[in-house]
Amino acid sequence: MGIYKAEAIVLRSMVYREADRILTLFTREAGKVSAIARGVRKTTSRLRGGVQLFSHTHLVLYGGRTLDTVSQGEAEDEFSYLEQDMERFTTASYCAELVDRLTPEREPQPKVFFLMLAVLRALKAGDPDLAARLFEIKLLDILGYRPSLTECVAGNHPLPSAAGEGARRLWFSIERGGVVCSACAQSCEKLRPFSPAALGAMKYFLRSPLEQAAQARIDPKILQELANILQGFLVYHGEIRTRSRRFLDAFRDGNAGNGHNKP
Ligand SMILES: [Zn+2]
Repeated sequence: MGIYKAEAIVLRSMVYREADRILTLFTREAGKVSAIARGVRKTTSRLRGGVQLFSHTHLVLYGGRTLDTVSQGEAEDEFSYLEQDMERFTTASYCAELVDRLTPEREPQPKVFFLMLAVLRALKAGDPDLAARLFEIKLLDILGYRPSLTECVAGNHPLPSAAGEGARRLWFSIERGGVVCSACAQSCEKLRPFSPAALGAMKYFLRSPLEQAAQARIDPKILQELANILQGFLVYHGEIRTRSRRFLDAFRDGNAGNGHNKP
């Protein structure tokens, strides 16, 4: 592949040998790329500032057989606020891990690149929980797993209108990937209750830009409902059970005293 330029976000950064780091990059041009940054852990390295974890950076790379090599890097934005807040940092780690787990190497997905950039920006001020839910549903949508929210997935008919009695109780089927009406619910298994408010929030999330929707005020109960459903969706359709998510959950439950994943 020779030498090439890429605009990238650093999704992962692992210490390698004495002075190197192995990076998982998400590039605008080529999707996910693994690369080595040699000598970058030396204080004298000129590359150092250009390849920080989560930075949005402009790189020059040499193509390699398994790993590309970063030869130059200049950060456009380092999102330094992430390092000052454990929950924001862990949420960024969670989103990066989802991208890493759900996308193949070297498949251009510019929408994923811009979504990742949007969530890193949204984490500056917005609610990290809300940002994570927005990220999950938008990533699922981009990757072809958009939940069906206007049709009942059990009966394949439009959902009853919001005014009707039948609209008050809704269910969500993880396996079938969408909403089930109360009439069809009797013949389905493994349904989760799904409130009309959660349905409305999910539709709003899908139609609004992430950075804009991240400023919305959403009832924590609805966010929790969405969290359960989206987590079920990711586990079932993406076989995803991320390390950062478990850590984030433990962190919220007050069990996060072990210092792993520190910035
Ligand atoms: Zn139905």
